[in-house]
Amino acid sequence: MSAESIEQRIQRAQSLRLKRMIWGYANHACTALAVTGLYLGGFLPLAPVMVFFASSILIGTLLVLFLQFGINLRFRDPSMTMVQILWPVLPSLYVMFFVALPQGRIVFLLLAVGGLMFGTLALNRRQMLTIAWLFWLGYLGLVLMLTWLKPDHVYWPLEAVTLFAYGSVLSIIAYLGSFISHLRQQLGARNRELKHANLELVELATRDPLTSLPNRRTVMEQFEREVARSDRQTPGPKALGISVLDIDHFKRINDTYGHQAGDEILRKVSQTIAATIRKGDYIGRIGGEEFLIIFPDTSPDFTVPAAERIRRSVEALRFDALPEGYRVTVSQGVALHQPGESLDVTFKRADEALYQAKNSGRNQVLAA
Ligand code: GH3
Ligand code: MG
Ligand code: MG
Repeated sequence: MSAESIEQRIQRAQSLRLKRMIWGYANHACTALAVTGLYLGGFLPLAPVMVFFASSILIGTLLVLFLQFGINLRFRDPSMTMVQILWPVLPSLYVMFFVALPQGRIVFLLLAVGGLMFGTLALNRRQMLTIAWLFWLGYLGLVLMLTWLKPDHVYWPLEAVTLFAYGSVLSIIAYLGSFISHLRQQLGARNRELKHANLELVELATRDPLTSLPNRRTVMEQFEREVARSDRQTPGPKALGISVLDIDHFKRINDTYGHQAGDEILRKVSQTIAATIRKGDYIGRIGGEEFLIIFPDTSPDFTVPAAERIRRSVEALRFDALPEGYRVTVSQGVALHQPGESLDVTFKRADEALYQAKNSGRNQVLAA
């Protein structure tokens, strides 16, 4: 799993939200430019234009402050998508009231459709349709208001067709948009699943399930890398040491106390060795009760004492599954990689030393 903390994740989400908000403001800036154009063309008086700009800047600033102080995190949708799409409607509706020509008002309807497109980033079908409805009702309300207060600004046959067309386009965008939004979410979920499955696969391919240690292939690959690195660095004071470790009389433990007891011992011995070796050393399970320990960049005299330390720490262990006083011991064969020597030869020398350790009474470390 990623090491990202919860705070870091929240921060990343917040900066993404801010980025989206700024994109949203690009859309609002288009509306502001259109309002300016209408003003310059003589279709709008100055006073409502000023109110439009003042209220837009005020609401926009408030929303940025919400993000900056994390107030949005308390909301059910911290992205405030609905709010962000809906708020520009109010200043727009207000200023539309002062546009004398019906064509001038249509400019705002086009820009509102652009705003609704932002919903595809987060909203579901119900939310998209809600916004579409509110947009449409807002415009209907405006036309009714104009009919009442400024009847000479409204030409109903045209408004009826406009309302029909506006409603149709909003519905289409709401449906298609929520479809895209749904696909986006599905894709995101699939991606997360795939990432998770990949991590699991890597885990399965590289780790031994019983002990959680690197498996034979992984530790041998590591050994190969270390051999190459050691060969590049020679001649030098550092050496590459390995120990092939095998648990003594493990078959007898299995036969006497059962396979489960054997498994418990394998796990505990693995943990103990992993905790005993230094940072930078490496251990893997290469067979049933056999392990390979790699000591990179070691001084030639260090490998045997390091292996000896491991031997003692295993010998000191107690196991629930075994009678009091029962000692599990390990034998080890240690070898230093010789410059230019193949990996197989180094391993074979350690393995032969292990064989000798077994023949010399077990529970000991022998160097090749
Ligand atoms: P030695 O001291 O000579 O190494 O004797 P040994 O009995 O340890 O050696 P041997 O190779 O004869 O036996 C190894 C045993 O390890 C045989 C096998 O049943 C057991 N074994 C291998 N893998 C596992 C495992 O995953 N779990 C358990 N419980 N036992 C295992
Ligand atoms: Mg054994
Ligand atoms: Mg063995």
